[in-house]
Amino acid sequence: MSIKPPQPAPSWNHRPDEIGTLIKDLLAKDRSLMDKIAALPAAECDFQSVFLALSEAETDFDAVAEPLSFYQNVSADKALRDASNEAEVLVRDYGVESSMRIDVYQAKVAAEKNIKESGQWDKLSAEEKRLVERMILDGTRSGLALPEEKRNQLTALKKELSQLCLEFSKNFNEEDQRITFTAKQLEGVPKDVISGYTKRTEGSEEVYDATYKTPDIFPIFKFSKDPETRRKAFEGYESRLEVNVPILSKALGIRRQLASILGYETWADYVTEVKMIKNGKSVIDFLDDLEEKLRPVGIKDRDTLLALKKKEHEELGLPFDGEFYIWDYRYYDRKFIESSLDLDDMVVKEYFPVTVVVPTILEIYQNLLGVRFEEIDGTTWHPEVQQFSVWEKDSKDESGFIGYCYLDLYPRSGKYSHAAVWPLLPGYDRPDGKRSYPIAAMVANLAKPTPDKPALMRHDDVVTFFHEMGHVFHGLLSHTKFSRFHGTSVARDFVEAPSQMLENWCWEPKVLEKMSSHFETKKPLSPELISKLVKSRYVNVGLFYLRQVFFAKYDIQVHTSSEDQDYTALWNSLRESISLVKSGKPAPGQGTFGHITGGYDAGYYGYTYSLVFAADMYATVFKADPLDSSRGKRYREKILVPGGSREELDSLKDFLGREPNSKAFLNELFGSQQSASL
Ligand SMILES: [Zn+2]
Repeated sequence: MSIKPPQPAPSWNHRPDEIGTLIKDLLAKDRSLMDKIAALPAAECDFQSVFLALSEAETDFDAVAEPLSFYQNVSADKALRDASNEAEVLVRDYGVESSMRIDVYQAKVAAEKNIKESGQWDKLSAEEKRLVERMILDGTRSGLALPEEKRNQLTALKKELSQLCLEFSKNFNEEDQRITFTAKQLEGVPKDVISGYTKRTEGSEEVYDATYKTPDIFPIFKFSKDPETRRKAFEGYESRLEVNVPILSKALGIRRQLASILGYETWADYVTEVKMIKNGKSVIDFLDDLEEKLRPVGIKDRDTLLALKKKEHEELGLPFDGEFYIWDYRYYDRKFIESSLDLDDMVVKEYFPVTVVVPTILEIYQNLLGVRFEEIDGTTWHPEVQQFSVWEKDSKDESGFIGYCYLDLYPRSGKYSHAAVWPLLPGYDRPDGKRSYPIAAMVANLAKPTPDKPALMRHDDVVTFFHEMGHVFHGLLSHTKFSRFHGTSVARDFVEAPSQMLENWCWEPKVLEKMSSHFETKKPLSPELISKLVKSRYVNVGLFYLRQVFFAKYDIQVHTSSEDQDYTALWNSLRESISLVKSGKPAPGQGTFGHITGGYDAGYYGYTYSLVFAADMYATVFKADPLDSSRGKRYREKILVPGGSREELDSLKDFLGREPNSKAFLNELFGSQQSASL
């Protein structure tokens, strides 16, 4: 019955001892290819000899390197994981070396000149032109168009910067301080949390030492009845990485110098040049606008929580100064949810057995996007992994083949501990004219069954799974000529938008009913539970998003200002004015802001920015009928197929039929605000 795919599934049978050799051979092969391109006489540099050749080299390189470096996340064999990790280090180092090859850059420049002078440019397709532009941009952004002296300066500064970022994150990971409370001070904190603290005697009193790790400290913010305990815990938590303050100042100074050498006004302009938003000023405008619109929602949220605080302080006989502090937020947010929603996570969970949710989600996607999953046998990296060949829904021969997909869903020792998707191979046109098909792997850690219950998912897990499957389909259904534009290789401030949009399915009553089935009664979620669940989605979102805006504004301000400043003062003043909560004693909280040194610099806005597009796409096209396959087809054609082969804004406009805007996003927040406060 089943058709033979035109491309065999990969064999996952690498031995630890062969990985090193495979990678070293790969690097040597790539290096000699680069040498060959670099050695071309200027007159012989053209689209084929330079850009196509580089694109093929890139594709061949990734096809070998990606699967080999994937083992470290999923293999049960430690030796294989280690070998895979070492391979990745070699690949990364080589990446730095090859990105700095001035000779290859010169070949690109010569080729671009010849293409434009010979008239070849006009004959190139839009995607081919984009390839040329992006490849040139790779070089100029690395500083290869600069004179040697500047290039050397750049390299030295980059090394210093990466050292500082490493130091920042090392401090972050190794932070190991304790904060001490008495049992009385911890009143309200769940007993099982307190039993995890270190108990000792101080003088005649028994005290508890808590770390600043999330499972220890967050329950204090959420449950401690004593506002003084919450204040002390919060101030300690915010100050725990003061050691990072001078490191961050230095890093920001270096980024300013780098931007200036590369010819950008600010670091934010440099970073956002290759994003959808394009420049620092647009980020600032986006955040200003969002803040202004969110403010009334946030004030309403805060006033509700403040009234709750006033009432509780009166009941407990505590002094009340009329202020809402940052250490009150998590505590009253929880109290509000408990008192207004009466929603029990654990009850909801009983309606989401893995064995029902996973196949139902796959079915929803298959119908929506017109594809068919066929589970196939074959070796993978672990016996628990499911392997699928993916086909057009009605395909009758091999022309309907789309690619391969793996689901590796259950936890085991040594495995990556969150949920994520690896686009293992991109799709692209091969030089012989045939098609190379993509492969995507979903790695998750869904619960395993217990003796008395099957494996169950919290609603949160269901949302995450649906979101991640969105990335899988982006990786499978994209169809571009060049691998570098395939699927999720879109701008980083857009890449989450499709999956964020798809999360909406998990909040639609119709869909919730379809994918739930109580593990004992087999009944779907009741309309009453569904309505509580849906209401919980937007509780206190005004305050939540204003907090996001605060982080994003801090990030963009420090990356657009032209001189050094008091970053601690800025942290505290911005937070107070944006998040609508009082701060107390100014603490150097920026030392804990890992995004800023962890590769997300001048990028924090991206999370909310892509949500705006997600909401717009959903409301405009899917909301009326989220399971309708004609809408799914439109999404597939306009958003998934083009991948990064054109500007993301063009894909959005094509899909929406107009320029995107933030109305749908704000409607969600404002609309829900009315019902949530009832
Ligand atoms: Zn995602």
